[in-house]
Amino acid sequence: MAVAKTALQIRLPPLPSIKDVIKLYKLRALRELSQNFLMEPRLIDKIVRASGNIQNHTVCEVGPGPGGITRSIIRQAPKKLVLIEKDPRFLPSLELLADACRDKVDVDIITGDILKTDLSQFIPSDAKVHWLDPPPPVHLIGNLPFSVSTILIIRWLEMISKHEGPWLFGRTRMTLTFQKEVAERMAARILDKQRCRLSVMCQSWCTVKYNFDIPGTAFLPKPEVDVGVVTLTPLKHPIIKLPFKLAEKVVRQIFSMRQKYSIRGAQTLFPEEVREEVALKMYNIADIDPVTRPFQITNMEFARLCEAYNDIIKQHPEFEHYDYRAPKNKNNLINAEEVNIECNM
Ligand code: SAM
Repeated sequence: MAVAKTALQIRLPPLPSIKDVIKLYKLRALRELSQNFLMEPRLIDKIVRASGNIQNHTVCEVGPGPGGITRSIIRQAPKKLVLIEKDPRFLPSLELLADACRDKVDVDIITGDILKTDLSQFIPSDAKVHWLDPPPPVHLIGNLPFSVSTILIIRWLEMISKHEGPWLFGRTRMTLTFQKEVAERMAARILDKQRCRLSVMCQSWCTVKYNFDIPGTAFLPKPEVDVGVVTLTPLKHPIIKLPFKLAEKVVRQIFSMRQKYSIRGAQTLFPEEVREEVALKMYNIADIDPVTRPFQITNMEFARLCEAYNDIIKQHPEFEHYDYRAPKNKNNLINAEEVNIECNM
């Protein structure tokens, strides 16, 4: 008979509450670092539970602050915990926690900016699995600072596309908080009113699970918006099988005119003199109706549009670096006759 495995839990010695830690170390929240501390243990545990089993795994926590989520992670008995916190004022309270679990969890505290930190250097090499295997025993968890969350997720998606950083080890999962509106955009399917570039980029490289909301009232100080908790698991095979930057450019331009026919945005990928013909060619190759609006296009259809754009720039490399927003110069002006466009495909 199979014996049910009971999860090991680490019991921490009595510690001051997070409220007391904040008072004790005079940790006034700094707006410029988006510091909103999560005060409700029940919700903190719920975030950590949403990341699944982390026992004996390596966990990297972004922005631990006074350590509320950190305590909950430690109780789940990870093998290694890497904390990346920009504000050095939190160092004493995090060291207190590291001391409290010494001998049980290997804790690395990094005072630094997550946008400049290569997490792969802190992950043990034996955690590595093949990309097509189930995710490795590595997790990224964080109640992210609003000020960096969108930049960070775009940067991480690009790393996922290249199997770099924490994704050198396989399909490392992330359980992260975002402003509710951003979380909704990440998970938005076609026809949702929040559907945007972020939805397509996230869903083309990851499965996006919107776990639950946290009301602003659960934080100190209370942010102006509620928060959504999202788990992202990289896909074995991305939907868009092209370089991330190329896909980002195509999807961004198509969404640049949200309420118009999507071909209007796609036209801005090409110089003014040729844009109507070339964009039509792109839609013909991709077999997409040009009068579809951006939020009506599925992820698979975006993949086809990216492929079609890639075909076109292979034939016409002069379009590749065309930038709609750049001032008109020689490189951005192209003679329609010179490029000899075939639009009847
Ligand atoms: N984890 C704590 C909690 O849930 O109560 C604090 C979360 S607070 C929303 C965001 C945390 O990220 C703060 O501790 C802040 O100092 C830190 N932070 C802000 N910008 C950062 C960055 N670029 N790199 C690392 N940490 C950052």
